[in-house]
Amino acid sequence: MRICSTRDRGLAVPLAEALQLGLAPDGGLFVPVELPRVGLPRTGGMTLNGTARVLLAPFFAGDLLEPRLAEIIAEAFTFPAPLRRVQVDPERLSLLELFHGPTAAFKDFGARFLAACLARIPGDGRPLTILVATSGDTGGAVAAAFHNRPGVRVLVLYPAGLVSPLQERQLTCWGGNVQSFAVRGSFDDCQRMVKQAFADAELRARLRLNSANSINLGRLLPQLCYFGATALRVWDSEGRAPGFLVPSGNLGQAVACVWAQALGLPIGEIVLVHNANRTVPDFFAGGEWHPRASVATLASAMDVGDPSNMERLRFLWPEAAQITAQLRAVSVSDTEIRDCIREEYAQAGLVLCPHTATALHVYRHLPAASRRETHWVAVATAHPAKFEEIVAPLIGGTLVMPPALAALATRPVAREELPAEFAALRAHLTSA
Ligand SMILES: *Cc1c(COP(=O)(O)O)cnc(C)c1O
Repeated sequence: MRICSTRDRGLAVPLAEALQLGLAPDGGLFVPVELPRVGLPRTGGMTLNGTARVLLAPFFAGDLLEPRLAEIIAEAFTFPAPLRRVQVDPERLSLLELFHGPTAAFKDFGARFLAACLARIPGDGRPLTILVATSGDTGGAVAAAFHNRPGVRVLVLYPAGLVSPLQERQLTCWGGNVQSFAVRGSFDDCQRMVKQAFADAELRARLRLNSANSINLGRLLPQLCYFGATALRVWDSEGRAPGFLVPSGNLGQAVACVWAQALGLPIGEIVLVHNANRTVPDFFAGGEWHPRASVATLASAMDVGDPSNMERLRFLWPEAAQITAQLRAVSVSDTEIRDCIREEYAQAGLVLCPHTATALHVYRHLPAASRRETHWVAVATAHPAKFEEIVAPLIGGTLVMPPALAALATRPVAREELPAEFAALRAHLTSA
């Protein structure tokens, strides 16, 4: 399959090249020139890995990675994405748990898949330098995915003092080929420093740089697999297409879900659930696109004021009216998040992370008819223990750490501080 820029259909490259470049040379995002129709593959009882092989085959067709696809999937998808029933007849609600990977958030799927792909693209002898700026979840998933890979060096930049204690541990406990820097500045400073590195021609000539950030196509492709596999599972057992409630920030999950639907999989309504960062819900209400600075909320991984993946939705549906006809968008406040975590625990025994709570809040406020007619799937994007300092006081108890997170707690941490200046980062990049 040919992959083009959202800004120019003529600028098309093979998949492996799109994964290596990350961002298209014209500043656009990479997308498939055309989405294939796979229709309703016969997957009765197929595993997530089996479904992924069917769904991703057309994207890899003709690419140098095509013969390695099964192996890439096997290496990346080593943990399940279970669908947990919360409510049965007459209303059906399930949670799609995407937090069983090494850093307990869905970003493990994308980071591990991208790492498995990049490891199989022949280089030019120079080591691969992964440079990533993170506000919390992404950096940990990327560090875990690339840790101990030969020929790869990882530099993670995060804002000092602005990530949770557990997130900092996930960013700094790797050692080996992973170096973590607490930048004395904001996330925006971290991102600016990374962008400056990519814009530095001399540096790029010296190093094979990749950012592995969330706009890389290699992070979206594995995500469409769990949406597809879930939809097929519900379709096989109930003969109806589920609706999805998707906690959203940068809209990567949203694009993956929309692409799975476009492939022909049985997916009904898709609702984009945002926190108090209202850029997308306001666009749906008024049709105007006004990106703005982000505001801090309890669902911090969704604190995005200028969601980059909107560009991919616009590529699929150029008119604003097409987007608003195909999807819905809702904003959920911090007060509603807190109330939802408290109430779901009291009434249903559910322990939710603040991001997942946004989706549950929307479910509870759907019209009764919609709750009866549709099997809704609320996407559980992170394990609640990852946000213990928020969740534990609300439910009045302690949280059980999943084994993967508990294992990280015993590793030694190493962090280095860095001023928020590109020169300091450059010095590290060019040493060693
Ligand atoms: C990244 C993240 C989100 C938002 O996903 P997008 O693809 O950026 O919309 C939601 N929840 C959690 C826990 C995340 O880490």
